[in-house]
Amino acid sequence: MPIAEKYLTNRVTGEIGQASAIYFPTTEAEVIGVIQKVARDQQQLITIGGHTGLSGATFPDDHQVLMSLEKLNRILKLDPETLTLTVEAGVTIAQISDFLAETPYFYAPDPGSKAASIGGNAATNAGGMRAVKYGVTRDHIQAMRVILADGRKLEVGSINRKDSSGYDLKDLFIGSEGTLGVITALDLKVQPKPKFSRDILLGFESLTALAPKVFEILDSGLVPATLEFFERDSMAYAERGLQLAFPDLAGQAFLLITLDGNSESELTAALAELASLTEHVMVLSDETVRQTVWQLRGAIVSSVEMVSRQEPLDVVVPINQVAPTILALKSMVDKAGLSAVFFGHAGDGNIHANIIKNQLSDQDWTEKLARLLDDLYAYIAKIGGKPSAEHGIGLLKKAHFQKHVGVAELQAMKAIKQVFDPENRLNPGKIFD
Ligand SMILES: Cc1cc2nc3c(=O)[nH]c(=O)nc-3n(C[C@H](O)[C@H](O)[C@H](O)COP(=O)(O)OP(=O)(O)OC[C@H]3O[C@@H](n4cnc5c(N)ncnc54)[C@H](O)[C@@H]3O)c2cc1C
Repeated sequence: MPIAEKYLTNRVTGEIGQASAIYFPTTEAEVIGVIQKVARDQQQLITIGGHTGLSGATFPDDHQVLMSLEKLNRILKLDPETLTLTVEAGVTIAQISDFLAETPYFYAPDPGSKAASIGGNAATNAGGMRAVKYGVTRDHIQAMRVILADGRKLEVGSINRKDSSGYDLKDLFIGSEGTLGVITALDLKVQPKPKFSRDILLGFESLTALAPKVFEILDSGLVPATLEFFERDSMAYAERGLQLAFPDLAGQAFLLITLDGNSESELTAALAELASLTEHVMVLSDETVRQTVWQLRGAIVSSVEMVSRQEPLDVVVPINQVAPTILALKSMVDKAGLSAVFFGHAGDGNIHANIIKNQLSDQDWTEKLARLLDDLYAYIAKIGGKPSAEHGIGLLKKAHFQKHVGVAELQAMKAIKQVFDPENRLNPGKIFD
């Protein structure tokens, strides 16, 4: 049977690759069967979760075998006594939040794509909207089951709250982009839902005016659950894409902030403190408006994707560098003769700059983008930032990652790959050569 184009496509570049087969295991035993067959046939394997990745990490560039875990998708157990949710790796983020909606608990990471799988989130160490207060995927995985390249099963981590017992193998597999093993099941941390939550939208004349406020908020002692920024231009893509209107609030650049906690009076005082940062303020107390704003914020990437090819960047910089970095990147994009939308998780220093191709010819786009990215990643490295905060390196950022990572660090990563996958069968050529 022909392989559906979706699984062969690099969703960022639009390229279509070639794979020799695709499997859809429904049990862990079937996953092991696929991995053992790949080893016997001396082939190479790419694991696919929700196929929402933005770094080309599932792209089959050399007739690899594909294995989609979308049917390994059962929620196995919620244990309120240890605050643990056990799931199979193909379970989506939407499934987890629907399941927990009926309970007093929540799973704190809130990455933008709800179609992503939890295995994919683990394999990329996904971030998301609530990382500024609650941390990233890594901070919410207690234990995982991983199948190695030769079919052996490995249990990593545990549901104990502390563990100083030898090397932390779990953390090696988190963020490994399918290159070290295939995650089949996970024990996730859940926590009681906060009693109160309020969202506020702050408008500023420009990103230049907004940027210093991020540091001011983080320095003030307030701990927002989300601290997102975006420009009106970015929002315009989402408005067109979803056919929804952004609320009527003056400004060209916005902060969307959630505060949560168990004391209503503390939240009210914190809201007042935030409201004093600008004259353009809207507390999102109307639930429909609140949901619309979040829907629009979540749709920026996919709405740009609908109208143009884009290069989605997810650089991260130390939090005191957010303001100068946004300004520097804007000037680099202008100088390169390109356009971009800027948004992101300001509270984590995670800046999304999506460079947009629009009507440029393929050649013009390729040349201008290559020059821009060389300069941009060199700048990020110089100020102590990293090329990826949450999407991973995959194929798209590989050249820049290899150029700026320390020599000894890269050697150590290659040595780890050699230990777990000596025959280079799992997602070969991703992250590094
Ligand atoms: C609209 C949109 C918004 C997004 N917003 C965010 C955001 O806010 N934060 C964020 O971090 N990311 C975001 N992303 C990127 C993407 O959703 C994440 O990278 C996500 O973690 C990928 O999960 P997935 O299941 O789709 O994985 P895939 O895209 O299928 O795979 C990604 C990588 O994980 C590996 N992999 C997948 N499953 C497994 C497994 N079980 N075992 C081992 N390796 C595996 C693959 O081999 C590949 O290397 C967004 C994407 C889109 C399209």
